[in-house]
Amino acid sequence: MTLGEAISSTWRDRFAPSPTGPLHLGHAFSALTIWEAVQRENGQFLLRIDDIDTGRSRDHYVTGIFDDLAWLGVEWPTPVMRQSDRRPRYATALQTLIDLGICYPCSCSRRDIQTALSAPHHRPESFLHNVTEIYPGTCRSRSIEDAGPDDTIRLDMRKAIEKLGGENAVGKISYRDIGAQHAGTHFLNVRQLLYAHGDIVLARRDIKTSYHLSVVVDDRDMAVSHVSRGEDLFGSTQIHRLLQTLLDIAPPIWNHHRLIKDEAGHRLAKRDKARSLCELRQSGYSPDWVRKRLGLL
Ligand code: GLU
Repeated sequence: MTLGEAISSTWRDRFAPSPTGPLHLGHAFSALTIWEAVQRENGQFLLRIDDIDTGRSRDHYVTGIFDDLAWLGVEWPTPVMRQSDRRPRYATALQTLIDLGICYPCSCSRRDIQTALSAPHHRPESFLHNVTEIYPGTCRSRSIEDAGPDDTIRLDMRKAIEKLGGENAVGKISYRDIGAQHAGTHFLNVRQLLYAHGDIVLARRDIKTSYHLSVVVDDRDMAVSHVSRGEDLFGSTQIHRLLQTLLDIAPPIWNHHRLIKDEAGHRLAKRDKARSLCELRQSGYSPDWVRKRLGLL
């Protein structure tokens, strides 16, 4: 049985907050969307703590996540996966990509990249269309053998696409979305991969992995059948789908859901502390009030 067949039999979805701030109503919507689906489908709600960014993650926010979810009535199996425990898994996946010959070390700082992009001599190399790339490719010719401890590791997007057979092969890699706004089958878009994402970072110099790489490895190891997340991550899904293909990982089904906005129509952010679930709880609001506010009752 392949992993794809194995994971399709049970509905398993995960809620994967980063403990870099208190949860707000947007997180509650995500968690409750998953919770309701797994209840309906007799599936499983999995919790993961995305604390790979150790500089910004805080333990008291992890405790807050457990408290808020329990208050909402959500249940999850333990032990809970924590990204900070899983560095060897990410290192193995990174090595697989390195062995494919599609990675290179990069020493550019953010400032170097900005300067290169704004320089008058910078012209996007026309691979498909004349659109500016995100990363100007300064270090692209460097060999992975020369990687030093302070280098970032980047994916050479062109080589990755070529590895999959070029434009046609990528166009055939599809994925399903069941979210109301994006429902249907989507295909990887070469132009988008090259020019909207470009040579993405696979391993940051500080944490030796990245959001994209870690999430793809974790979702595989959790054997999730579904990935529910806000539609702000719709673009990231393309990258995840590409990495899954390169790493030979069967794709889950995505559910990109709507984002919760405040009264002024702005997307909720972690810094919007007044809207934290903890505050609502302490001010006497009920989980049912939260469900009503989110349009779930
Ligand atoms: N940890 C990510 C976040 O808090 C979400 C995980 C994902 O769905 O990729 O935004």
